[in-house]
Amino acid sequence: MTTYPHLLAPLDLGHTILKNRVLMGSMHTGLEETKDWNRVAEFYAARARGGVGLMVTGGMAPNREGGVFPGAAGLFTADDIANHTIVTDRVHAAGGKIAMQILHAGRYAYSPECVSASAVKSPISPFPPKALDEDGIQKQIADFVTATVRAREAGYDGVEIMGSEGYFLNQFLVTHTNKRDDEWGGSYENRMRLAVEIVRQCRAAVGGDFIIIYRLSMIDLVPDGSTFDEVVQLAVAVEAAGASIINTGIGWHEARIPTIATSVPRAAFSWITKKLMGKVSIPIITSNRINTPDVGEDVLATGCADMVSMARPFLADAEFVNKTANGQADKIAPCIACNQACLDHTFGGKMTTCLVNPRACFETELALEPTTKPKTIAVVGAGPAGLSTAIAAAERGHQVSLFDRADQIGGQLNMARVVPGKEEFHGLVEWYRTMLADLDIAVHLGCEIAADDLDGYDEVVIATGVLPRDVGISGQDGPNVVSYIDVLRHKVPVGKRVAIVGAGGIGFDVAEFLVEDGSSPALDLAAWKAEWGVGDPSLTRGGLAEQGAQPAAPARQVTLLQRKSERLGKRLGKTTGWIHRATLKMKQVEMIGGVNYERIDADGLHISYGEARENPRLIEVDTVVLCAGQVSERSLADALEAKGIPCHVIGGADFAGELDAKRAIDQGTRLAASL
Ligand code: NAP
Ligand code: SF4
Repeated sequence: MTTYPHLLAPLDLGHTILKNRVLMGSMHTGLEETKDWNRVAEFYAARARGGVGLMVTGGMAPNREGGVFPGAAGLFTADDIANHTIVTDRVHAAGGKIAMQILHAGRYAYSPECVSASAVKSPISPFPPKALDEDGIQKQIADFVTATVRAREAGYDGVEIMGSEGYFLNQFLVTHTNKRDDEWGGSYENRMRLAVEIVRQCRAAVGGDFIIIYRLSMIDLVPDGSTFDEVVQLAVAVEAAGASIINTGIGWHEARIPTIATSVPRAAFSWITKKLMGKVSIPIITSNRINTPDVGEDVLATGCADMVSMARPFLADAEFVNKTANGQADKIAPCIACNQACLDHTFGGKMTTCLVNPRACFETELALEPTTKPKTIAVVGAGPAGLSTAIAAAERGHQVSLFDRADQIGGQLNMARVVPGKEEFHGLVEWYRTMLADLDIAVHLGCEIAADDLDGYDEVVIATGVLPRDVGISGQDGPNVVSYIDVLRHKVPVGKRVAIVGAGGIGFDVAEFLVEDGSSPALDLAAWKAEWGVGDPSLTRGGLAEQGAQPAAPARQVTLLQRKSERLGKRLGKTTGWIHRATLKMKQVEMIGGVNYERIDADGLHISYGEARENPRLIEVDTVVLCAGQVSERSLADALEAKGIPCHVIGGADFAGELDAKRAIDQGTRLAASL
């Protein structure tokens, strides 16, 4: 059994002791805005029961102008305080500790009322901010103090003052956004005055026995960002002003360098936090792409920080810390850093949840209660839909048999995991394997199931997935044409010049697979930093490498095509689509929309443009890869129906359009909850 001595060591803050070195970092879930305080309380209480040392809430606005969007949650009234008390009471009863994040969005606030150091509009917001005058600045300070005092009244153990990610306080720190020439602008001492003054006044208002975390941007990743000397100067000043802990922020939201996506190497930024170690005497927390106990233990053991922050891993598994402590780390449902159900939902105005764990933020609605009537259940198909049904049903006490014609579990996940930058899918498949064994699910692989084999079960679940769509292009049966399954699963040889038909998630995945030569920058921090132009903030402002991005040459010349005339990749994930587009651009992939596929022959792919089929063009390639979507594999479901055997059809077998693991797992888990 692996032990985690650094991760599980208590942390003495003087007036209070945290039971371990794991912080659940702030996440905006959308729960507070539902005003269902029982639901909010249950979300945090589940994580408190799961053993985490300290949690930070989603950002609470200190005032209306600082809210991320109009109506953003904050502690504005006596009712707000009473409601938050429901949360803190439930967390404390569960043995946890919780701090409230105070988030002032500044010019990132999605509102014409937004304010900042200067009237410099953000590239990611339509609203130019109003530059604050002296009275305005004093009001903002007072509002931070009031929020801190109210947080204490509401029973919180502390606050986190959000000073990173390009939000309000960050906007004062750098000349990129602070053009002032009064005592709040100009020299660095002036530019950091606001952050320091807020910490000082908050500390004075609440006394010594209250946690104040300051979230400090260690590397801004924007032009004219802070230097590391300035980072250290600020850290020393906020410590002197009364901060109890310094937490790490990485990159402004407007930065064009990925910071938390799955293609970012694990613990990619802990080296920066390490540079601050020894410069202050209060604990320092490191963050970003830390998603397993081993990674957390390693960053602490190598002196990168005193504590680790993980946020999304607590959506994937509320019991992360308990399982770590109990020798069950292999049973932790892994966060694969996909953003699909968390950040993509947040930015799409939907409730946050988790692809791997659809119960996250739905704790009060989607319960997996032990069954009072155990049944025999056959699940056909061991992809994400079938796996999640099988595991959730077995957890409830049903007797489950799982069948797949393939000789391994995972279905389409096995193709995702070979794509460079999607290595986290390995962990997800491994977790499913562990859980199947742990729950004594009878797994039958390499096994072709017919309708007659399914007679006699109490419930039959068909999760047979999808088949590639027949695109009907003349010449598609030629020797130079392959499907994405041939490429990703069967590893058939592909020439040096490739055309990809279809630019959905899989077309992009295949393009990323083909431009690499078998290596993955996600597994090589130095290569990844060079590829995106991440430098050392001690050498260049904001940590943008002086020589810019230096991507390695593509392994193949790839052309990616679609019939729609819209921008390629437009429908990819809200928070990750830009990364995929930028990656392919760096690898000189030509992206062409609005095409007709005329034919394929030995010379390559013949296309034309628009309804009039104009401007015929030959794309000279050695190989054409078809990534044109899928249709449902329903043959078994149809055979069962013909025999009158009732069954539940889920995942791609149910509906192939826009199928992804998120929908498959959600549907499977909800079905299991109802059986
Ligand atoms: P998809 O997203 O539906 O894309 C299919 C592509 O094929 C589209 O570009 C479509 O564009 C093209 N197409 C459709 N019918 C065609 C036809 N008859 N002839 C030629 N081209 C045709 O499907 P997918 O790429 O296979 O992905 C399947 C699912 O997995 C999707 O929901 C996807 O989001 C998900 N996925 C997600 C990720 C991720 O990173 N989140 C990664 C992989 C897959 P035109 O119709 O414009 O030609
Ligand atoms: Fe992690 Fe993806 Fe779940 Fe978000 S949706 S918590 S990134 S696994």
